[in-house]
Amino acid sequence: MNDEIHHAEEFLDRIEQDDTPAGSDLEYFLAASNQSIIERLYSRADSARKRHIGNGIYLRGLIEFSSFCRNRCLYCGLNRNNTSLARYRMTSEEILKAVDSVASCRISTVVLQSGEDDSLDHIWMRDLISEIRNRHNMAVTLSLGEWEYQAYALWKEAGANRYLLKIETTDRDLYDRLHPGMSHQNRLRCLRDLRSLGYEVGSGIIVGLRGQTVASLCRDIQFFKEENLDMIGIGPFISHPSTELCKESSGDAEMTLRVLALTRIVTKTTNIPATTAIASLDGDFRSQALKCGANVLMPIFTPVLHKSSYEIYPDRSCTNEEGVQYAECLFRLAESLNRHIDYSKGDRKK
Ligand code: SAH
Repeated sequence: MNDEIHHAEEFLDRIEQDDTPAGSDLEYFLAASNQSIIERLYSRADSARKRHIGNGIYLRGLIEFSSFCRNRCLYCGLNRNNTSLARYRMTSEEILKAVDSVASCRISTVVLQSGEDDSLDHIWMRDLISEIRNRHNMAVTLSLGEWEYQAYALWKEAGANRYLLKIETTDRDLYDRLHPGMSHQNRLRCLRDLRSLGYEVGSGIIVGLRGQTVASLCRDIQFFKEENLDMIGIGPFISHPSTELCKESSGDAEMTLRVLALTRIVTKTTNIPATTAIASLDGDFRSQALKCGANVLMPIFTPVLHKSSYEIYPDRSCTNEEGVQYAECLFRLAESLNRHIDYSKGDRKK
């Protein structure tokens, strides 16, 4: 083994053992130009995934039920200034039908996601959650953005199990520039409220935002560890033509995979999806992600009628496929990698 690889292995040992890994150790891999070092990183992340989680892949059926949003996140196609987007809001009946379809594929987690819809009726949401929990033996994950403690408490009480809220970046200045009218502090407040209420909590970041440095990505990874997150979504920035960031180039798939691989090694048992964002870049990145740490896939069950209107970024994969076909395509992907679908609810392994 040459010196450089030997060095890389030592760094990986340290990253694996340290409570909070040193930024400089993480940076070594994000900045590396030697491809064999990166191969070592991926292979160590793959063994960490295998050791801590096993070969099973959890499926989460995603239903994007409203594209209305009060926010103006500069990168996101749902931002309220984008008047070219047709907005929709699904009814309870439509959502319950989509949930039936998730259940028909034996998938036992449903993710309800939306923009931050000012008209979201908290009681309506509560009733929807309890109806789903009554009808199905399923975990319910919410991804509805920032709300007050009382709303989170109401939904938890109704049976919601998990909540996803990406921090997007831990760099406060960058966060403020990208999210006019929002605050990093409130985002953190939400994550901590959710944790204190007993939700399984998921967060994550966008990789490849202009102004984001390698050092800040390292801090993001340390943040995942410090917050003891149960789920972490890591996806590349994808440039959307009807946003202020339309002229910027999309994030780099390779950098996204490096962050994912390090996150697996550092956080060990966290559930990490191969995100739809990375799958929408040109190339076989969904399977790459599964080979360097990811253990979750999220087939989209939003009805095709609405799917193309939920345009957080353009060219999302499989927009013409109904959920059942989408799920079948992911079953085949898992098989092709000699992994199996784990149909359990897939709580974070303790
Ligand atoms: N409103 C909810 C959930 C909807 S957006 C919330 O704020 O949590 C879900 C995720 O899509 C965001 O967290 C963001 O990370 C991602 N996203 C939005 N626009 C994107 C883009 N252009 N490129 C990559 N990811 C994007």
